[in-house]
Amino acid sequence: MRHPYKTRESGATVTIFVPYDCHNHCPFCINKEEYADLTGFSAEKICKSIDRMHAITPRCDFVFTGGEPLANLESLQVMLDHIPNTHKIYINTTLPVSAQQSEEDIVAFTRRNKHKITCMNVSRHMQKYVVESNDTLLSKLAVPFRINCVLYKDYPNKDLLPYMERFRVIPGASIQFRFDYTATTPDNLYEEDGDVILQDLKKIARYTGLDGCRMRCGFHFDYKGMELTYHKTLPYSTIVETDPTNGVTYDILYDILIKQNGDIHSDWDGTLLDVEAYEKVIFEPYDLRWLEKIAS
Ligand code: SF4
Repeated sequence: MRHPYKTRESGATVTIFVPYDCHNHCPFCINKEEYADLTGFSAEKICKSIDRMHAITPRCDFVFTGGEPLANLESLQVMLDHIPNTHKIYINTTLPVSAQQSEEDIVAFTRRNKHKITCMNVSRHMQKYVVESNDTLLSKLAVPFRINCVLYKDYPNKDLLPYMERFRVIPGASIQFRFDYTATTPDNLYEEDGDVILQDLKKIARYTGLDGCRMRCGFHFDYKGMELTYHKTLPYSTIVETDPTNGVTYDILYDILIKQNGDIHSDWDGTLLDVEAYEKVIFEPYDLRWLEKIAS
């Protein structure tokens, strides 16, 4: 480790990559290659790493992603049951329905876990990259959900309105549009005039404000009463910064990753977390704040 760690109060978000493939092929996916060879993937090792992270930051957020967390509900249940209820838990999923797993299986899973799951982030991209289950399943979920949509390269902006109308009629729906994170840089993170997606959204929805921090930001909108966010995030999770009050340079961590084999990483590029050093992490106030709020 080059520098001591610093993170926000409550700790960096811990993203858990489940050991199950999603069988989709989104062009912007940076995780797909890892699922080509499942050797070493282990839910048991993931649980051990969950324990280590809980011991250091007992109130951090956990995110299950993949791959597809709902590809094996039994195993996901074991991992979920391993997380004490001091944590918020988010699940990134496509809501996969198949001959082996019915809609009712998924609904029953959400009912069983409605006190554990903070929100399900359901991938529904405008360009059809993922196999989709029926939209009616969304309103049957027993937990809050949000639609996630990556607007990739030359996305068809004429389809934005029909896409928003599709989800507006589903009770409880909100949409998070996402900029392709592999293309985000510190220079374009907060760019507004040259950001095509932002300008497209401003034409069709009411802009309500901007929140953000060093690492990510969200432009907020209201579309006929449905909440929309346009989210941008940098493609790494560590920022190196010198604290002017004491001259010490820190690795400031925003996300920690538990990989499919249980390894704990401090960034998306394969950097291993020095867990013993993280046990001595310094906490700073959370820097995500409203930067602009438009009165309705
Ligand atoms: S559904 Fe998610 S994990 Fe699967 S290919 Fe698409 S982005 Fe990657």
